[in-house]
Amino acid sequence: MGKVKKIGVLTSGGDAPGMNAAIRAVVRTATYNGLEVAGIRLGYQGMIDANFQKLESSSVSDIIQRGGTILKTARCEEFKTTEGRAKAYNNLKEAQIDGVVVIGGDGSFTGARIFNEEYDIPFVGIPGTIDNDIYGTDYTIGYDTALNTVVEAVDKIRDTASAHNRMFFVEVMGAEAGFIALYSGIATGAEAILIPETKGESRDIKKLIEQGNTRRKSSNIIIVAEGDEEGGAFAIAEKVKNDFPEYDIRVSVLGHLQRGGSPSAMDRVNASRLGRAAVEALIDDQKSVMVGIFNGEITLVPFRRAVKLHKDVNHNLVELARILSV
Ligand code: ADP
Repeated sequence: MGKVKKIGVLTSGGDAPGMNAAIRAVVRTATYNGLEVAGIRLGYQGMIDANFQKLESSSVSDIIQRGGTILKTARCEEFKTTEGRAKAYNNLKEAQIDGVVVIGGDGSFTGARIFNEEYDIPFVGIPGTIDNDIYGTDYTIGYDTALNTVVEAVDKIRDTASAHNRMFFVEVMGAEAGFIALYSGIATGAEAILIPETKGESRDIKKLIEQGNTRRKSSNIIIVAEGDEEGGAFAIAEKVKNDFPEYDIRVSVLGHLQRGGSPSAMDRVNASRLGRAAVEALIDDQKSVMVGIFNGEITLVPFRRAVKLHKDVNHNLVELARILSV
């Protein structure tokens, strides 16, 4: 059995629905195994400021269904410096925290990896980001909820688009990854999907609109990932307007509503599995790894790989979206 006796848990970077379910699972699994838990508030900033709070089983009651994160999250520039990480280490030592669970995305794991190269307190990561863009796991906490939020919103937009014969460009989150756009596009029957992983789609859009014209479609929904290389939804809508001046074009940027809300059942269950796995990894003396879910099973992925390698969308699904929009 491992040496760890007291673990710290923090949420870092962008928040995602289901982070609370993961915190709860970490606290309860640790308690089950006789370990103490300190909540670290405001991400890495909380390590640097020794902003710790004791968490017991009862501290995480009634949070599994809540969006956001009870520990708060933050971006912390100081943790990128050797001095900042030294302060963090000293505070962890002083509080006798001998293992840390980091719930966050790529940036948070980069910080954790660097810390683990410098210091002997093991860090284990849980992927928490609505973008689903972390290599080595099929799933990240918050993605399923965000996707369902987008689908609900786009269904509503479709109603009004059909009523007025309008074309809508809907911008969804995904600065570097098109998972939300691709899946929500398929789920809502979007006429076109623009994502960073594919290039030159505007030519396809022209073709699709011309096709749609001949079929007399009553509405057109085009989903745009915010990171698409052709610009955001406003920029692309402007281009299309020049080609099709007769169209009544509208733009809707869904924005931060995609991050909030009560986590879906899937996010709660997966966050619970990952929270347990992270604590068990620390008990097993693992360090500098992320726990993930791959083909339905828990996996351990070194931070180095999770951060460095790019997770691509399934191009079969890109093709599927194209076929189904004829
Ligand atoms: P996410 O984890 O969602 O990708 P960020 O990229 O904002 O979010 O990273 C979250 C935090 O992780 C940063 O504010 C910083 O404290 C830490 N971090 C990111 N990159 C590094 C780095 N190169 N070195 C040390 N810490 C880092």
